[in-house]
Amino acid sequence: MSDAMRTSVLGSTGAGDLFQLLRDGRPRTRAELAAVTGLARSTIGLRLDALTSLGLIGPVADAASTGGRPPSRIALKPSSRVVLAADLGASHAHVALADLMGGELASHTERLEISLGPEVVLGWMVEHADRLLAELGKSRADLIAAGIGLPGPVEFSTGRPVNPPIMPGWDAFDVPGWVHRHMPIPVYVDNDVNIMALGERTHSWPEVDHLFFLKVATGIGSGIISSGQLQRGAQGSAGDIGHIPVSRGAGIQCRCGNTGCLEAIASGPAIAASLRRQGRDVATGDDVVELVRRGDLDAVRAVRQAGRDIGEVLTTCVSLINPSVIALGGSMSEAGEHLLAGVREVVYSRSMPLATEHLQIVQSRAADDAAILGASMLAIHFALAPEALDALAAAASSSAQ
Ligand SMILES: [Zn+2]
Repeated sequence: MSDAMRTSVLGSTGAGDLFQLLRDGRPRTRAELAAVTGLARSTIGLRLDALTSLGLIGPVADAASTGGRPPSRIALKPSSRVVLAADLGASHAHVALADLMGGELASHTERLEISLGPEVVLGWMVEHADRLLAELGKSRADLIAAGIGLPGPVEFSTGRPVNPPIMPGWDAFDVPGWVHRHMPIPVYVDNDVNIMALGERTHSWPEVDHLFFLKVATGIGSGIISSGQLQRGAQGSAGDIGHIPVSRGAGIQCRCGNTGCLEAIASGPAIAASLRRQGRDVATGDDVVELVRRGDLDAVRAVRQAGRDIGEVLTTCVSLINPSVIALGGSMSEAGEHLLAGVREVVYSRSMPLATEHLQIVQSRAADDAAILGASMLAIHFALAPEALDALAAAASSSAQ
């Protein structure tokens, strides 16, 4: 966010708006805050008092000061609250607690089938969140919000999964409502690729406003950050590129019911199937990655071809949204440079020069941490938004009266 002041739409303190300037963690003086916002020093003082009483900010020592009384600098206190983050995959579950900058404080992962249904999986999440809070000597009162990633389409406005293919029992389930009944905090739910895009940007590309995150695993999907904002589209299905038809897929059946989809020829299971047709003993995408690591030429060729097929679809995406970074994640990206090479070959040769002049196509740097970090950032983004903080400040001042 720029250092420009926005008009507070809720509450009278405007403390939430002022706080946005401090979210980067950099200490600032009252004079600096007054200069940036154009607010009177007395107004700044009132708003800082409100944030201080919430425990969200505090004074920091100024080591650089020489002589005299050091100027009083104020900064975010990242550990003043915690957020709950959960990355619930097809067959794994990862729950973590993070501070207000997204720094992980404690986490727990185990194998858990999403097909066990929402009550079992979310119950597991709540149970382990409580354990992690206890480990840190904290309680539910320290929690400010939860961010949850699910391996299927989610209607973001309601947090309900929409016809998720691998999640029996989850269709239209009120995930935020269920969690809220057990933990009374705001709950935000999104699909796994969107939260991976958020995590990748936070981890490695904070200055990049146009980032395209592609996940290649059992399925293929993408998370689109454009002008600094995650793009979900009207129903939350923006970036669902796995079922775009590609030329080499003609006539090949996809699990969605159509034929010729990208996912039907370039996902992990699809690459494994193509190697089986060559008489190779390969069951899963992970087997393909293992063969590539051992330098198996058939597997390398198949992965590179999948990269070209993905590149065909990405060329269209590049024309539409003009990203400056495309990051490849998901289990098949562990096949390394071969997948990237196929993608680059097609995207760089088929896109218009202006669109690729500064385009980087890279392997995800956040890798296995992308999803859980993104889930934290999803929770933080909404919990620390101006309206949320103004409401918090208003509630605190009315309960103090
Ligand atoms: Zn399909």
